[in-house]
Amino acid sequence: MKYIDTHAHYNDEVFKDNLDEVLDKCKQTGVDYIVNIGYNKESSDRSLELANKYSYIYTTIGVHPHDVGNDKAIDIYDIYQANSNNKKIVGIGEIGLDYAFVSDNKLQQADLFIEQIEMANALKLPVIIHTRDASLDTYNILRENKPQFGLLFHCFHPTDDLVRMVLNEGYSVAFGGNITYKRNSSFGKYIKAIPINQMVIETDCPYLSPEPYRGTINTSANLPIICKKLAEYKEMDVEYVCEKVYKNSLEFFKIKQK
Ligand SMILES: [Zn+2]
Ligand SMILES: [Zn+2]
Repeated sequence: MKYIDTHAHYNDEVFKDNLDEVLDKCKQTGVDYIVNIGYNKESSDRSLELANKYSYIYTTIGVHPHDVGNDKAIDIYDIYQANSNNKKIVGIGEIGLDYAFVSDNKLQQADLFIEQIEMANALKLPVIIHTRDASLDTYNILRENKPQFGLLFHCFHPTDDLVRMVLNEGYSVAFGGNITYKRNSSFGKYIKAIPINQMVIETDCPYLSPEPYRGTINTSANLPIICKKLAEYKEMDVEYVCEKVYKNSLEFFKIKQK
């Protein structure tokens, strides 16, 4: 079976010394493409370098809510402008709201989020959204500020509001190692309700290893475990699910197959 990792961080320090080895193993597992995700100015630059080096790696650029106050939307715009003919930039992200660690800067997070949605619309790119402990504010911002070229909720943590929005707007959702965790077994009813056409898979590596590898360094070679779990929740054939999410990923990021 073939796989696409729609959310990876191979620019992370932990891969510094063995990246080629790790990527070789992913290729052997059937991983055809990887979308490497930026989360601030520096990581977006490094992610773009990876995309330029490896034919099968694509990149997004963006500022994560953790970096509010450090980097700005204009920094990301500058990276895009300096590389505007580079077809490897396939989205703006990861952007969004995160109240898990810091919640005293909600207004600044909202401003940064909205500015980057507007930028994505201006550049005709989809957005990759990170939202943690902030689903209501995320919902309200997205209702007022609609991404026009695609929206993907990464590491999707379903809530009634967000799932309704996904269904109404046809937005996409990505599931990763999080669906293999026991405490998330309540995701089942939501996963059944969302059409397979709106789903993709991801690792968020090096974080969020699926069970039974939780706590170890995650890589795209773990995608088969996530796909299998998704197929179980969907009560569908794993090969069918695998093929579908592959096709959905190519379409969402407008990746032309080589
Ligand atoms: Zn994230
Ligand atoms: Zn991430």
